[in-house]
Amino acid sequence: MDLVKKPWFLGSVVVIFAAVVLWNIPIEKRKYGLSQSSLVTDYTGLLPERVERIVVADNRDDLQRIVKQANDNGQQISVAGLQHSQGGHTYYKDGVVVDMRSFNRILELDEHQKTIRVEAGATWEAVQEALLPYGLALKVTQSQSIFTIGGSLSVNAHGRDIRFGSMAETVKEMTLLTPAGEIMNVTRDDPDEWMKYVFGGYGLFGVILDVTLELTDNDLYVIQTEKLKTSEYPSYFTQLVNQQQTAMHYARVSVAPSSFLNEMYVINYNYTDKQDHKNFLKKEQGVRLSKIALDLGRQGGALEDLFWTMQKRYITSINNQEITRNNAMRSESTFMEYTKPGRVEVLQEFFVPVHAYTEYIEDVKQVIQANDKHDDFKVHNITIRYAAKDNFTTLNYAKEDMLGLVVLMQHGVKEEEVTNATSIIQRWTDITLEHGGTYYLPYYRYQTKEQFRRSYPAW
Ligand SMILES: Cc1cc2nc3c(=O)[nH]c(=O)nc-3n(C[C@H](O)[C@H](O)[C@H](O)COP(=O)(O)OP(=O)(O)OC[C@H]3O[C@@H](n4cnc5c(N)ncnc54)[C@H](O)[C@@H]3O)c2cc1C
Repeated sequence: MDLVKKPWFLGSVVVIFAAVVLWNIPIEKRKYGLSQSSLVTDYTGLLPERVERIVVADNRDDLQRIVKQANDNGQQISVAGLQHSQGGHTYYKDGVVVDMRSFNRILELDEHQKTIRVEAGATWEAVQEALLPYGLALKVTQSQSIFTIGGSLSVNAHGRDIRFGSMAETVKEMTLLTPAGEIMNVTRDDPDEWMKYVFGGYGLFGVILDVTLELTDNDLYVIQTEKLKTSEYPSYFTQLVNQQQTAMHYARVSVAPSSFLNEMYVINYNYTDKQDHKNFLKKEQGVRLSKIALDLGRQGGALEDLFWTMQKRYITSINNQEITRNNAMRSESTFMEYTKPGRVEVLQEFFVPVHAYTEYIEDVKQVIQANDKHDDFKVHNITIRYAAKDNFTTLNYAKEDMLGLVVLMQHGVKEEEVTNATSIIQRWTDITLEHGGTYYLPYYRYQTKEQFRRSYPAW
């Protein structure tokens, strides 16, 4: 057969071949949460530890008994949700680990007061499913819905919402199992102020059993995207916050060699005055394509430039699309999974005051390489989020209105490679502190104790 005369045939073969290749790209699906073995580790695999036992929490009385028993035996207790934290926060050597995943019931939903009472081991995903029929949505959550409520409140997480303040401030009430083994109901006007220690308290002040969260409407937003220079961003953002047209927002800074820390794009979710009428929650989409694109970027050099160009094309293509609040709060995550032996991909987050952003970025250029193709330590992505001033929690990372730089980075696990990564991140943290910033605690602890104390003076 003369293929040149049959271009449609050749075209179809190429399309089928590409589809088969694409379909066969393996998608890593890690299992998060504890297995019931006594050797546990966190996401990075860098901190394996033998624990005494893991207890599955399924009723309050049992939990209370376990806490009292551990107190009598002088044992330490830790609490685990879905273990997405990356620094061994959920276990102690020879301690008792309470696995909260089965503590996951929706207890009460008040459509008119717009509140939901839910057990702390439930995921945001489960909460979103319960809210959907009522046209309701969360006020503050992470950009993904894969975490437990207890784990998220214990780190006082933030996301893309720029209107409702900190996650802790969206809680009306909670039931707490205190370190002494007492079960108590805690409201916002509790004179002992348990909430300000428990939220952002990493499980150190008791086990959150359930919480009552304030809700808002599942509004329909229109996406608006723009490209900017890094130097333009602080004034752009200040205007955006003041104008009140935008409900949610995030941005990305280029880490590609030819536009390194100079170019950005922003994604805004603007009010439309409409609510969700489509009534569905989106599932993970385009996992394979996103994974191929990210894998290209991971190679560094010209391929990272190509990845940045592809991202800019993509964000231009979603301009003017509509999306519900719930769907904007459940971004894809599977495509990011990375399981190459001998290497680890982790997150860090640095917060800087909004006004300090431009000078800070100039200083960051002295710490990380524009082209990290041949380096062991690589930065793949920097996303920018807003963390409004938090007047509520004690371990508080937003002492004023902050921009958080969420950094996806990768390095080897040999001792010298971890040491090199540690020294780069410690320098980065010093620069952050010099600009009046802080760093986020749910991730691997590269920072020194001194850096921790300077970031969190109320420790
Ligand atoms: C891919 C990825 C994306 C992320 N995106 C964001 C983001 O957009 N914004 C953000 O702020 N953070 C983000 N994070 C961090 C994330 O919010 C935290 O790691 C969060 O703690 C994960 O919830 P978890 O259920 O896995 O908690 P775990 O890791 O299981 O626990 C975290 C902490 O909470 C404590 N804890 C858990 N349950 C309870 C409970 N019931 N009572 C008391 N203490 C408890 C644990 O002891 C531990 O100290 C991200 C993390 C990853 C890996």
